[in-house]
Amino acid sequence: PMGVCPSATMLQMKDNFTGVLRPWARPEVLTCTSWGAPIIWDGTFDPDIAQQEARRQNLTIGLTVFAVGRYLEKYLARFLESAEEHFMVGQRVVYYVFTERPAAVPRVALGPGRQMRVQYVVRERRWQDVSMARMRTLHEALGGRLGREAHFVFCMDVDQHFSSAFGPEALAESVAQLHAWHYRCTPANTRASSSLLGINDHKEHRSSGQQDRERGLEALWHDESHLNKYFWLHKPAKVLSPEFCWSPEIGPRPEIRRPRLLSAPKEYAILRD
Ligand code: UDP
Ligand code: MN
Repeated sequence: PMGVCPSATMLQMKDNFTGVLRPWARPEVLTCTSWGAPIIWDGTFDPDIAQQEARRQNLTIGLTVFAVGRYLEKYLARFLESAEEHFMVGQRVVYYVFTERPAAVPRVALGPGRQMRVQYVVRERRWQDVSMARMRTLHEALGGRLGREAHFVFCMDVDQHFSSAFGPEALAESVAQLHAWHYRCTPANTRASSSLLGINDHKEHRSSGQQDRERGLEALWHDESHLNKYFWLHKPAKVLSPEFCWSPEIGPRPEIRRPRLLSAPKEYAILRD
């Protein structure tokens, strides 16, 4: 779905959090989608402007993460500790951890203005269903306390850790993450990543999953496939470059200057039942 944006549009392109963007700082990469949404790369925004704007608006930013089964012991502590170091530092943050074992959630020391809420979820039997059930659970959570207290909500996989500042430049009405393994693909086989998404309205995302289920179908990439359909129909207002969710297994690439979030190597054999 990505296309080249006319440079006249680019010059005027700005949003509340990034101020005026500097797409010319990264001439080697695509910095705008065909529908005019900015693709945020390192060097195209001023992190201080984003920081000040978010403070001025006195925002609360939600970060939701699921840690079910063996993913809890394996990944949650590092995910949260690294988020304390790099995620929305200086802003009000509320973590929502969804797990079937609330008592086993590690006690991570939180900075001022940062809180954690642990919510019980039933453990789905199949890992595919654990992943798919996230959207239904998040939808319900958004109708409750999370929806009331957070102005923006991210949903991230737990099998990763922050490695550099991940700030309010990533905020928008609806945000999609370019997939590290697929961003160089042709439009026909691009896919967005479920590892990060600014949640706006999940009704349609959910119902497309439910319809499949009723027909006895399962999408190849589970919730990611449904998320891609959602973003196809509802174009995101902002797109994050793969620097915001990088996979070190790919190896270094010149356009990946400063990865902010690094995914762990896949260990499905020992993690999934
Ligand atoms: N997850 C979990 N327990 C499971 C399966 C999945 O907690 O048994 C959660 C966890 O947050 C994980 C996310 O669902 O990061 C997506 O699953 P996974 O990371 O295995 O999918 P992939 O990144 O390989 O698409
Ligand atoms: Mn993952």
